[in-house]
Amino acid sequence: MIDFDFHTHTKYSHGKGTILENAVSAKEKGLKGIAITDHGFNHPFFGMRRKKVDKMKEECILAEKQTGVKVLLGVESNIIGLGGETDLKPSDYDKMDIYLAGIHRAVFHHKFSDYFNLFGANLLTSTITKKPSSALIKNTTNAYINAIKNNPIDILTHLNFLCYADSLEVAKCLEDYGTYLEINTKKIHLTDEEWQNIIDKTKVNFVIDSDAHSPSRIGDTAIACELFSRVNFPLSRIHNIEGRMPTLRFSQFKERR
Ligand SMILES: [Zn+2]
Ligand SMILES: [Zn+2]
Repeated sequence: MIDFDFHTHTKYSHGKGTILENAVSAKEKGLKGIAITDHGFNHPFFGMRRKKVDKMKEECILAEKQTGVKVLLGVESNIIGLGGETDLKPSDYDKMDIYLAGIHRAVFHHKFSDYFNLFGANLLTSTITKKPSSALIKNTTNAYINAIKNNPIDILTHLNFLCYADSLEVAKCLEDYGTYLEINTKKIHLTDEEWQNIIDKTKVNFVIDSDAHSPSRIGDTAIACELFSRVNFPLSRIHNIEGRMPTLRFSQFKERR
């Protein structure tokens, strides 16, 4: 049982429900809060639109009033370059409460070479060869690490979903910068061995998120429960259960500005 679901989608990207419907579902499941984190602006079909952000914020405030559940507005931004560029710009920060980032397919990249080296190479490997080259692992790892270093990201979403980074190296960087590693319950994205390695060799902390694309999946933890039956997870390092709340790097960053 999680207290707060930090990764949910709505109709503003390719989720099915409204912001209010997500909040109502969270209330029904006994959650204290949710974050609305639709896909980043560089996704040509599914991305949220900058001109809709004010309306989204208004709907979050209204949904919070109507349900009593805390409703944060955030984004699941796209990592779009090997230098760690994302599609959330500092000029967007004021309107956002929380900053998630992940690697996704079919987004506009920073440069054409980034598109080729990050998206194209990962796509080719995940669909055809299945064997990542060392250059691909190096590029993908660097993209993640540079994104964590250069942006105040709260939560890294579904590490290595359809892409190939050195998960231990990325986790070490997450630990250094105080960014959470997500246990995503929509899809398994690391092997049990990788999880165990990260747990044993780093002190990175975790959050469990549903990545719900429909209101009914808000707060769903089934995949995490299965994972915990196979991997020895220290529950104290999961910061959105048992009454704990994560320390969010993005709000601290904004306060210091
Ligand atoms: Zn995602
Ligand atoms: Zn997502």
